[in-house]
Amino acid sequence: MAAKSQSNDPKTKSPGSVTFSKAATQGQWGRACCSLTAPLADIATGRARLSDIWAKTPPVTTKAAQIYVAWVTFQVLLYMLLPDICHKFLPGYVGGVQEGAMTPAGIVHKYEINGLQAWLITHLLWFVNSYLLACFSPTVIFDNWIPLLWCANILGYAVSTFAMIKGYFFPTDARDCKFTGSFFYNYMMGIEFNPRIGKWFDFKLFFNGRPGIIAWTLINLSFAAKQRELYGHVTNSMVLVNVLQAIYVLDFFWNETWYLKTIDICHDHFGWYLGWGDCVWLPYLYTLQGLYLVYHPVQLPTRYSLGVLLLGLLGYYIFRMANHQKDLFRRTDGRCLIWGRKPKVIECSFTSADEQKHRSKLLVSGFWGVARHFNYTGDLMGSLAYCLACGGGHLLPYFYIIYMAILLTHRCLRDEHRCANKYGRDWERYTAAVPYRLLPGIF
Ligand code: NDP
Repeated sequence: MAAKSQSNDPKTKSPGSVTFSKAATQGQWGRACCSLTAPLADIATGRARLSDIWAKTPPVTTKAAQIYVAWVTFQVLLYMLLPDICHKFLPGYVGGVQEGAMTPAGIVHKYEINGLQAWLITHLLWFVNSYLLACFSPTVIFDNWIPLLWCANILGYAVSTFAMIKGYFFPTDARDCKFTGSFFYNYMMGIEFNPRIGKWFDFKLFFNGRPGIIAWTLINLSFAAKQRELYGHVTNSMVLVNVLQAIYVLDFFWNETWYLKTIDICHDHFGWYLGWGDCVWLPYLYTLQGLYLVYHPVQLPTRYSLGVLLLGLLGYYIFRMANHQKDLFRRTDGRCLIWGRKPKVIECSFTSADEQKHRSKLLVSGFWGVARHFNYTGDLMGSLAYCLACGGGHLLPYFYIIYMAILLTHRCLRDEHRCANKYGRDWERYTAAVPYRLLPGIF
């Protein structure tokens, strides 16, 4: 089994055949060589039992619990107590108190948009600690990775369960609750649309952004620090993963106000899918590339790494511009220029739950004339770049692109089903004008 074949010798060999320091190996059964198949094969062939895996799984530790509680508390304080000041001096940044989209019950919530500020403060403190104060090691996240996973799960299940109870007994707004008759479905997909505590603590905005997305870049930094500790240097693949994902994360916080208009906030209810997903799935699976590179420190040829960088930046450009074009179009009610021209528009109408008729517009120019979800295509190109940065040695770091392809294809179909119901014949006119979803000529 993986753990038995490992050495505690801190010396390193050539990339790809590395032995690990004690810190890297302790209690890391089944993942020290990123092997998922070896433990399964051991169970299948009777060489190990599930109880053996359980016995070797690192338990939750007091240290991990302290780190996690301190981390979440710090993020809650940044979210609740520090009104945004970034929008006062950063040109073009929209922060502070902003309005979300209208909910199905016709409510427009206000949000304190201060995610960029929280990200900056958190990362500033991280660097001050790493280079000046040394209160804790920058490898702390990696070193407590599995014990922290327990803590993240406890929070993920606690918040999903709380959201369920709150939905039944004291919802923020009963008119925006959805009960399906299936207890399991209610738990998974959520009852409340925008659960809140008090006026400002919004579950969706907090859990997606703070324990989820702020953690993403910190985790990557911790993995880079671990690489340096183990091998004396950080590989170009690790730098690529850190840089490309940091651009994506920073983009999210720069555009946090825009995020209020995306499907997560506008259409999904808050249950296990978002609560557990933000606490566990996002920080643990979106960061698999960095984790893999700690164990397999790939040094990429310069041309290959430039190719990956270009793919990542092009994907990001398409993702950002497509989202920007729709946002601009909707904000100006079509009175804007897209690719230097007046945009082509499909006028449409829909009826809301209260039988009111509304008018809306669909953009047929720019990236929205190339394919109906070209923003997803850009996202997928960026996701592929993160995976390619890990070379071709193992399937594990490619989990992200496989997952994103499934997620965004499913999301695309889900969204189109909703739009077809909402706009009826007008949506058919749009699909006739722009026949492909993600890739012109293919899908
Ligand atoms: P979109 O931003 O694509 O929004 C879809 C909505 O936009 C539709 O429901 C419709 O809403 C409106 N719309 C659709 N077509 C048009 C058009 N031609 N003109 C104007 N409005 C239109 O979807 P998401 O919120 O899912 O995604 C936002 C971004 O977040 C994407 O770039 C995606 O890649 C990214 N993302 C990333 C994830 C990750 O885990 N990394 C997860 C999910 C998303 P309406 O009812 O208002 O008409």
